[in-house]
Amino acid sequence: MSDLTELYQQVILDHNRRPRNRGKLPTANRVAHGDNPTCGDQCNVYLRLEGDRIAEISFDGSGCAISQASASLMTTQLKGKTAGEANKLYADFHEIVTSGREPEEISDLAAFAGVHAFPARIKCATLGWHAALEALKGEPHTTTTESHND
Ligand code: ZN
Repeated sequence: MSDLTELYQQVILDHNRRPRNRGKLPTANRVAHGDNPTCGDQCNVYLRLEGDRIAEISFDGSGCAISQASASLMTTQLKGKTAGEANKLYADFHEIVTSGREPEEISDLAAFAGVHAFPARIKCATLGWHAALEALKGEPHTTTTESHND
């Protein structure tokens, strides 16, 4: 057993076993693709935006346990949120995975706090979020974590 084992906490395991909102969203009006070549993770995010609000969200893709669990958790966090709220949540999540500090309010996002000890894995954890934020911007194109400074 390695330290990495500790990363796979209950929330992460659960999202891997039973991914939420996985699969194409037929009614999506925004789509973005995320690519993390360092680890080989792929993630598509499908959104149905109504005005400024995320009415529906789903993802599909393939890759390591962290990337897929994080994308699954991301969809549960962003559904029903506005673009502004989504950006705020991502800022919180980014803080958690890069610093390891847990948020003051209890949140499933804190399950990924252990990722901060494994810098190469931070891109796995943020992949789905990057794709979702790209989809929100309405610029349908591939995003890669290589072009982000985290
Ligand atoms: Zn990965």
